[in-house]
Amino acid sequence: MTSERTRTRLIQRIRQQGIQSTTVLERIGQVPRHLFVDEAIASRAYEDSSLPIGNSQTISQPYIVARMTEALLASGPVKQVLEIGTGSGYQTAILAPLVQRIYTIERIGSLLRQARQRFQQLQLKNIRTRHGDGARGWSDYAPFDGILLTAAPSEIPAALLEQLRPGGRMILPVGPPEQQTLQCLTRTAEGYEQQTLEPVRFVPMLTGISR
Ligand code: SAH
Repeated sequence: MTSERTRTRLIQRIRQQGIQSTTVLERIGQVPRHLFVDEAIASRAYEDSSLPIGNSQTISQPYIVARMTEALLASGPVKQVLEIGTGSGYQTAILAPLVQRIYTIERIGSLLRQARQRFQQLQLKNIRTRHGDGARGWSDYAPFDGILLTAAPSEIPAALLEQLRPGGRMILPVGPPEQQTLQCLTRTAEGYEQQTLEPVRFVPMLTGISR
């Protein structure tokens, strides 16, 4: 189930779908995704699909995690990253060694507690977590070179636009469940440039926090 062969197959599949970054592909091969899901479904951890993680939430599909990571890093080294929607912590764990520091916010306390344990277990030390509503960003550490959303808002929250450094990138799904697209937004000296990457399906971004 967690064998070298199963992981190699997953990487091949993701490469066939168009991911070219060897850094990203290697990282997908390194992170033990079975530790991010419940034991009962661990045998499916290396399938290229999203899976339930409790509280009606899902761990993202490996291809999409790779796509978002590749898009975030495409314009050169990224130092400070803000992630909204820690969930299982899988996307955070993929990205952590590829950047200087990640600040990640999750609104569901029980998911965040489990994610923190996984970060400790994997000895990922450049991750700072927060139980809160990510729509407000994390002004203490702003501005960020990169912002990643793993839950889809219907509109990009203003606080996140403000907390993106000029030259920085935001990778996010936007739109209602049936019509979401993955967007890459770059902050320029004059404003923002937006590029649509592909149709996607994420859980919606919600307001407030929950235990
Ligand atoms: N990257 C995660 C994806 C988890 S699903 C993984 O691979 O496991 C998206 C997560 O976003 C859910 O855990 C959900 O609770 C969280 N979320 C939704 N709206 C949020 C908000 N406003 N602030 C913070 N987290 C939010």
